This record gives sequence, C-alpha cells and structure tokens, in this order.
Amino acid sequence: MTSSPKGVVLLGATGSIGRSTLRVIDRQGDRFRLVAMTAGSRGESLDELAAAMNPDYVVLARRPSERFEPGWTGEWRYGREALAEAAADPAADLVVNALVGYAGLESTLAALGAGHRLALANKESLVAGGDLVLDAWRDGPGELIPVDSEHSAIHQCLAGRPPREVSRLILTASGGPFRELPSDRFGDIQPEDALAHPTWSMGDKITIDSATMANKALEVIEAHLLFDVPYEKIEVVVHPSSIVHSFVEFRDGSTIAQMGHPSMEIPILYALSGPERLPNEYRNFDPVADGPLVFESLRSEQFPMFELGVSAGRAGGTQPAAYNAANEVAVRSFLDHRLSFPGIPEVVEDVLTRMTPRPVTSIEDVEAADFEARTLARESVIRLN
Ligand code: NAD
Ligand code: MG
Repeated sequence: MTSSPKGVVLLGATGSIGRSTLRVIDRQGDRFRLVAMTAGSRGESLDELAAAMNPDYVVLARRPSERFEPGWTGEWRYGREALAEAAADPAADLVVNALVGYAGLESTLAALGAGHRLALANKESLVAGGDLVLDAWRDGPGELIPVDSEHSAIHQCLAGRPPREVSRLILTASGGPFRELPSDRFGDIQPEDALAHPTWSMGDKITIDSATMANKALEVIEAHLLFDVPYEKIEVVVHPSSIVHSFVEFRDGSTIAQMGHPSMEIPILYALSGPERLPNEYRNFDPVADGPLVFESLRSEQFPMFELGVSAGRAGGTQPAAYNAANEVAVRSFLDHRLSFPGIPEVVEDVLTRMTPRPVTSIEDVEAADFEARTLARESVIRLN
C-alpha cells in the first residue's frame, strides 16, 4: 500500500526532541515529509538541518543579526507570529511541539485550535495552560498525543479505556543524578553535576528539572490533565534503569506496564504513527540480561520541588502556571551560577506563597500569572544571592 506522505510541522527542530524526531522521520523513508521546521535563535543549526531535510519552509522565532547569511536557499520566516502560524498551518497533518518552556503555549493552542494532531513534548504548555489547552483539544477535531515517555506509556497501556476503570497511574522516575546523594551535600551541586543525567540525554532545562524532581511534578500534573485521573490516584516510583516507562493499574486488579530501553525515539514514533506500530530499529529488551528491574520509593523530603509542584497542581487555577514560571527562572539562574541548587525550591516556594491563586478563564489569566511569578522569582533570586 502506498499513501501520500504525512506532512509534519516540527517546532523546536534544533533541540534534543527535535533532532530525535528528525532521525525518526528520516528513517521512515517516504512516510512523512517536513512542512516546516522551527528554532528559537540558533539560525546556523536550523540552516544545517534545513539543508539536510529540505522542509517547505523554516521559522526562526527570534530575528537573527544582519550578519546571518543562511546557506539553505528555501523560504525563511521570522518572529513569534510566524511560529504560531506554522503550528496552525493547514498543510500539516500533524504538529510536533518540541519547544521548551512556557514559550510553547501559544503553539500548543494554535495547533489544537487548527484541529491538528498534536504530538506534545512541551509539557510546560499543558501544565501552565491547563483547562485552556484541554478545552482547545475537546472543542476541536484535533488530537493530543503525549511524547513524554511516561505519558506515552500510560496512553498505550490505557488503550482507550475510560478513567473510571483506572484505580492508579504509577509514573516511573529514574531518580536523577542525586538519588543517593545525602541532602547535606546538595549545596555543593554545580550545574555541570546536575547536567549529567544517568539514563537520558536531554536539553538543559529538563535535565535540571530531572535533578530537582520538578520534572516529575510537572509530569504528575500532565498525567492528571491528559488522562482525567484525580491526583490521589497518581503515584511515582523510582526506577533507576528507566526500562519500565509507567504502569496503569485497572480496577479489576490488572496492572499493565510499557517497557523499552530508554530512547525518546520510541515514544516519538508512536506519537507520529500510533495506534499503528511501524517498523523501527531498537535495542531489544532482554528480561534476563536487563533484570532485575528495581523499584524504590521517592525520597520526596530530599526533593522539595516534587511536593511543591504536586501541591500547585492540586490547588489548580493559576498555581501550576506560577510554579512553572518560577521554576523556569530558578533553573536559568542556577545554570548561570546565580542561584544554588537548594535555592531552586526556595525561590519557587517563596513565589507560590506570595501569589494569590486565581481561576483561569482566558489566556490573559495565564499570562498575568506567568508574568507575576517571573517577576517575584527574579526578586527572590536576588534576595537569596
Ligand atoms: P531543548 O532545549 O533541547 O530544545 C528546545 C527547542 O525549542 C530548540 O529548538 C530551541 O531553539 C527552541 N526554543 C527555545 N526557546 C524558544 C522560544 N522562546 N521560542 C521559540 N523556540 C524556542 O529542549 P528538549 O530537551 O528537546 O525539550 C523540549 C520539550 O520536550 C521540553 O518541554 C521537555 O520538557 C520535553 N521533553 C524532553 C525530553 C528529552 O528527552 N529531551 C523528554 C521528555 C519531554
Ligand atoms: Mg518524562
């Protein structure tokens, strides 16, 4: 059977998920074609990738300097508006949102608003946008397929069964590089230490989030929103080898898990093609050689970002957006050596206690909360310095 290739808009092509997506697409031959590829500011990287993949056009969200001379002679578009237009491009069959941070919210809403199938890696947009994103999804013909490995696992284990049949979602966490480090040593942690993740190679922001466990809190909120399961039925277990990507426990006593060696290419491919399963190159899971599979409880007292995030999720309204924004500022400050590692939860807690939670009824509510939390977080970083 031959069918015409599916048109893909890839937002954040130069990042870790973006490049993995390009490898997945490249390996699938004629099945997919690139409508558009985008990047934030690294024009040279986008130029190189465009020459290799030849999309219809590329978008650079931030205008480059006048000295920038692209080698790729295809169409270049510039600016935030062009990015949102690409997310809603009618020529696309599916949109991959691999942007990092709150900056991806506009694109998530645009893609769902245009009725596209959205393969969502950019969890921050779902966490911050909350019901706005869910409404855009429910109102339109669009689909939201998670790329995050835990949520891809849960989506696959659920296989369309409704939330009332679920008794528990159990998300796995690698535990990050400081799983066994005593908390009195956390003050010595440098960005280089936190950037060395034991099982996954990822962009800087999510790597720091994995070290503080903020990533797992964002993922609990993400699971709550995507699968409509209440917080009290969502748990996290530490699984250092990252082979089991998550479990779904059903009310009849069956627990279903999805497994595979840690590679984002597997959930990316599933988000592009699922429920169909396409041929893929992967490393086999060998139950004997890869065993025993080890699980342990999360030491949440060592990682205050986890409880802070889950509490923000439970509080709802603008609190998840505030948590996310404060975390983005704190992570940036830590990477720039302006904040210590234990300073990250201090900043975020300070911001959350100073903000008044409000309901979210429009994008302006989210924008205001994001702005306020960033302002408070910057003040807090200076105070702690
Ligand atoms: P990354 O930093 O490697 O890449 C981010 C991409 O977004 C780049 O192409 C960058 O140019 C672009 N970008 C950044 N800021 C922008 C802005 N303001 N406007 C427009 N474009 C901008 O990030 P990543 O590790 O690939 O992660 C992307 C998303 O996927 C994140 O939300 C992350 O939490 C999620 N995720 C990543 C992994 C992983 O393995 N990397 C796994 C699960 C989920
Ligand atoms: Mg994940």
